[in-house]
Amino acid sequence: MALEGIVVKSTGSWFRVRTASGEEIECKLKGKFRMKGIKTTNPVAVGDKVVFEMQANENIGMIREIGRRHNHIIRKSTNLSKVSHIIAANIDMAILVVTLKNPLTSLGFIDRFLVTAEAYHINAAIVFNKVDLYGQKELARLEELIAIYEAAEYPCLAVSALSGENIDQVIELIKDKVILFSGISGVGKSALVNAIQPGLKIKTGKISDYHNKGKHTTTYPEMHHLSFGGFVIDTPGIREFGLVDFRKEEIAERFPEMRRYMHDCQFNNCTHIHEPKCAVKDAVDNGDIPLSRYNSYLRIYNDDYLEKDEWEWE
Ligand code: GDP
Ligand code: ZN
Repeated sequence: MALEGIVVKSTGSWFRVRTASGEEIECKLKGKFRMKGIKTTNPVAVGDKVVFEMQANENIGMIREIGRRHNHIIRKSTNLSKVSHIIAANIDMAILVVTLKNPLTSLGFIDRFLVTAEAYHINAAIVFNKVDLYGQKELARLEELIAIYEAAEYPCLAVSALSGENIDQVIELIKDKVILFSGISGVGKSALVNAIQPGLKIKTGKISDYHNKGKHTTTYPEMHHLSFGGFVIDTPGIREFGLVDFRKEEIAERFPEMRRYMHDCQFNNCTHIHEPKCAVKDAVDNGDIPLSRYNSYLRIYNDDYLEKDEWEWE
């Protein structure tokens, strides 16, 4: 009998598959699988929807079909290799946790994350955490940032994992979705997950080793089921989010606000940097595209990623 489920843990040779009824079954892969268009070391990843069959007299399943993915995040095996490793598939939302205080997340970092999510075709949202620490200055910034990112159609929430403020809104946002939390170290990802579902511990990616590409963790990606519906992807490899190679001409499309104007530029190969009659630059001049977002575009375009990104807001 064929059963369906979602892969919640993968070691590369074993896969834990969760069925709709909540049963979890250890599965193996039947024979060799090849995915069209993707050269990968692992044909099945966390988040994959699979069809499997129970083996007679054994408590294991044999995966025989893998559903089409609507997105996936990858890690290149090495810089030289064209082969990539799929970390997770079918992600409904990537949630960037940021703080305006203790520590400060830079706008450059936020924008780079959002552009990467767009490149992966993953919906993104921003959760501003630690609002309990914000004074007047931070609250004013919060309002301005929420205006900028909501205008680009990214859902924004202002919460406190510590006090519990607006945690119900986070639950509402992520309910029944497969999500991942990301953000620099110390913004409160673990605290947030714990506030959402007490007792649930995640390893969380430490983006502090963002530039330390040589270091590889050996823990396997895993998804945790949420009691109110949905899953949190737990992988220490979220720094891979920064490893996408952007083709320069694609970057503007990854900014929803720029996407709205770029078709009105005089030249259809406009880079929106120096060309005359550029609708994007006009929109920046008119204040229709926030300057901070345009500056992030220029930075990404020029591959000008600063590790200690300055806060362009002051
Ligand atoms: P992670 O590195 O992103 O997983 O961050 P943690 O969850 O470990 O939190 C880092 C520090 O921030 C800890 O000392 C938490 O207690 C603290 N923290 C987390 N959320 C909040 C919050 O909403 N308000 C305050 N004041 N502190 C918080
Ligand atoms: Zn232009």
